[in-house]
Amino acid sequence: MSKTKHCEAVKVVVRCRPFSRREGVECENILEIDDKRGQITVRNPKAPPDEPMKVFTFDSVYGWDSKQSDIYDDAVRPLVESVLQGFNGTIFAYGQTGTGKTYTMQGLSNDPERSGVIPNSFKHIFTQISRTQNQKYLVRSSYLEIYQEEIRDLLCKDNNKKLELKENPEFGVYVKDLSSVVTKNATEIEHVMSIGNQSRSVGFTNMNEHSSRSHAIFVITVECSEVGPDGEDHIRVGKLNMVDLAGSERQSKTGAKGKRLKEAAKINLSLSALGNVISALADGKSTHVPYRDSKLTRLLQDSLGGNAKTVMIATVGPSHKNFDESLSTLRYANRAK
Ligand code: ADP
Ligand code: MG
Repeated sequence: MSKTKHCEAVKVVVRCRPFSRREGVECENILEIDDKRGQITVRNPKAPPDEPMKVFTFDSVYGWDSKQSDIYDDAVRPLVESVLQGFNGTIFAYGQTGTGKTYTMQGLSNDPERSGVIPNSFKHIFTQISRTQNQKYLVRSSYLEIYQEEIRDLLCKDNNKKLELKENPEFGVYVKDLSSVVTKNATEIEHVMSIGNQSRSVGFTNMNEHSSRSHAIFVITVECSEVGPDGEDHIRVGKLNMVDLAGSERQSKTGAKGKRLKEAAKINLSLSALGNVISALADGKSTHVPYRDSKLTRLLQDSLGGNAKTVMIATVGPSHKNFDESLSTLRYANRAK
């Protein structure tokens, strides 16, 4: 089936991580990947043998042996190219905690083969810039976190301060007082990322729990100025948002109560608002895109839809123990196509 132009603005891919060492001994694989067709088949471990398996089709699917460079080259590179041309773009990692969102977005810093989308985009951007001659570039980065519908600047010393979302006719929606750091090369911007990562954990006793409940957004703004044939300076600006979303697992299952349950409701709110926005955009016929329903979707409003490109990378684990969550991730991703 041919897709309308609008649909091409949203690309959805799925990545399945390998078994962990522990799972390898005690778990069955319930996922089958056909990368040529972009299909993933899920087997319900509790179903009778004659129950048909669930099959989903995406723009691409990546199996346990996929390389970081496969994801970057097919799914991310074209989006970053368009940011360098002056468009906005957003890349999301969505999935249950422990399925490889942070691995996909950041990767492992001690091994260049395993560096993820964010550091690979730094290299890509500065390589492209070094090849141009008649343009001048200004690259700025910000790093923020949304936790419980509150925005924190990860690059500011006082990172407990809650920042406000503002809107004005000229700039659209923006975060008031958000730090923005000018970076001249990939090494500098990697340093910015590691400072932000450190500040993510400050003040939280359980770093893993905190990072699985908050959305981390790395923003790169690329401004390019060039003297046009008319002798005037022309400026174009592209913005790249790279988002490591909160874990998609249903919080009710974890037996959360009181404060925890309220927190869980807020996490689920922004993930479901995001799902609604992306599915309205992918549908192309919706007249109303509900950006205003969460901080996350309001903040990303100018980088979702319109001329902006979006890539959703849904991550899943192969084990039978994760059947419910994997199925729910694939359903969410399927709505976004
Ligand atoms: P999440 O951010 O979704 O909670 P992580 O990125 O922290 O998950 O991944 C959990 C573990 O699995 C980490 O130890 C990570 O290194 C490993 N991992 C995830 N995806 C892959 C992959 N595609 N290949 C190899 N190891 C992976
Ligand atoms: Mg993570």
